[in-house]
Amino acid sequence: MNAVCVRCGGFHDDYRLICPHCGHRPDGEGLLIAWLLSSEHLGKEQLEQAAERVRSGESIRPSDRMLERARRALGTHFSSDPGLSTGQRIGLLSTSLLLTPLVGWVLWFWWRRSRPRAAIQALGLSLPATAIFTALVLWLRFW
Ligand SMILES: [Zn+2]
Repeated sequence: MNAVCVRCGGFHDDYRLICPHCGHRPDGEGLLIAWLLSSEHLGKEQLEQAAERVRSGESIRPSDRMLERARRALGTHFSSDPGLSTGQRIGLLSTSLLLTPLVGWVLWFWWRRSRPRAAIQALGLSLPATAIFTALVLWLRFW
């Protein structure tokens, strides 16, 4: 694999790793851009051109369609997100019921871009938990 660093335009082996030239480490949306600037997506000549553009100080702003393609390739698209495992679901549900249903909302917010399926599942588990929790709190208040 060959990849162009989005910050310094230097070449390195793996778009997921820290750039050996400038220490830049892509994460989140940056990882999508890093993938777009790697040999997984671009040909050799296009990579050279991308490196030139970064080195000349041009900022790389991929279109939504490009980002969508990267997201799909990296497994963060809804159709390729495996979602939550059974263990995670039970863990989330019991946390929601015993502590606070807020956890599900936080996870949803966290994952809504990177893990859309897991995010929806977290929300799905938290909504009923939120209802039960609210009912319980109200019931305790009026007791
Ligand atoms: Zn770099």
